[in-house]
Amino acid sequence: MTDTISSKMLILGSGPAGLTAAIYAARAGLEPIVIQGMQPGGQLTITTDVENYPGFRDTIQGPWLMEEMQAQAEHVGAKMVWDQIVDVDLSQRPFRLKGDGGTTYVGETLVIATGAQAKWLNMPSEEHLKGRGVSACATCDGFFYRGKKVVVIGGGNTAVEEALYMTNHSPEVILIHRRDHLRAEKILQKRLFAHPNIKVMWNRAVGSFVAGGEPEKLVALELVDASGAPAERIEVDGAFVAIGHAPATELFRGHLELDSDNYLRVDVGSTRTSVPGVFACGDVMDKTYRQAVTAAGTGCMAALDAEKFLAEAEFEEAQHAPEPETVAG
Ligand code: NAP
Repeated sequence: MTDTISSKMLILGSGPAGLTAAIYAARAGLEPIVIQGMQPGGQLTITTDVENYPGFRDTIQGPWLMEEMQAQAEHVGAKMVWDQIVDVDLSQRPFRLKGDGGTTYVGETLVIATGAQAKWLNMPSEEHLKGRGVSACATCDGFFYRGKKVVVIGGGNTAVEEALYMTNHSPEVILIHRRDHLRAEKILQKRLFAHPNIKVMWNRAVGSFVAGGEPEKLVALELVDASGAPAERIEVDGAFVAIGHAPATELFRGHLELDSDNYLRVDVGSTRTSVPGVFACGDVMDKTYRQAVTAAGTGCMAALDAEKFLAEAEFEEAQHAPEPETVAG
């Protein structure tokens, strides 16, 4: 027998967007169910220091912040379930989501907060060495490279933070960037350039990841210059790809409108998607700001938009309900 779980509001994803939506929806009496995916808590659970979430003078830890948000959501009545959604039916309300264990989730509204995932360079040698020297998360895997030489690839905040983080483990960190300047925030750049254990290689990209040893693992990188011509080979023990993120929207392709970069399209100034009753918040719909605090902000908006939608739908239904029959007495 397969289970069916129903709610006025299903929330898919449990990062700052999903959990903020849950807090607002629970406080509005909507008894939301939060379906946590593969990474409960979202990207902040693989971050270490957080210094820009308002309300905390001292540096806080990403995983701790997410534990607190989840505890707050549960405290006000949100329910958490862990499942991997494999199929959605948004063709009519209530919406139906299918979990990989066979559970069906039925929601009068749906808030999508599935976030984004790390991008890869998508080259065969990278694929071959994933988990054997090539990673997309220094805070997850950095520990394995204690005392070793590593590179971080990318020029944004993530790359710079990962390079700085790796200095906790590694005596030699090289940041490899394809251009001659970084897009990371100035405060992070300042820390990076001031760090004695970090070297930056400008105008370089990875031509291939080189395998060696027994068992086979990453031993070197073949680099190319800005024109794509072979440049140098550097011996390394670990490489962290930190070139940005892609929205987790595959599940909704063909069901909801996506933009040209695969982000969920929402009406300007709201979280309404192309299907009435389905709302999107956080990194899955925001390719501009992508901050924990903006994700939380749009999570709040999604809950308020969904609450308003439900109130209007209930009003409409009451208007169209058949007149109760009067019994002649
Ligand atoms: P990002 O800002 O999009 O930066 C991606 C970097 O990777 C860019 O420097 C880009 O190079 C490079 N890149 C992209 N594709 C590449 C490829 N195929 N080969 C080589 N290099 C490539 O991504 P992000 O650093 O993950 O940051 C995403 C968002 O999250 C940003 O809004 C950021 O501010 C935010 N964030 C904030 C914090 C924080 O506030 N503490 C921490 C992490 C992330 P180009 O510069 O040449 O385009």
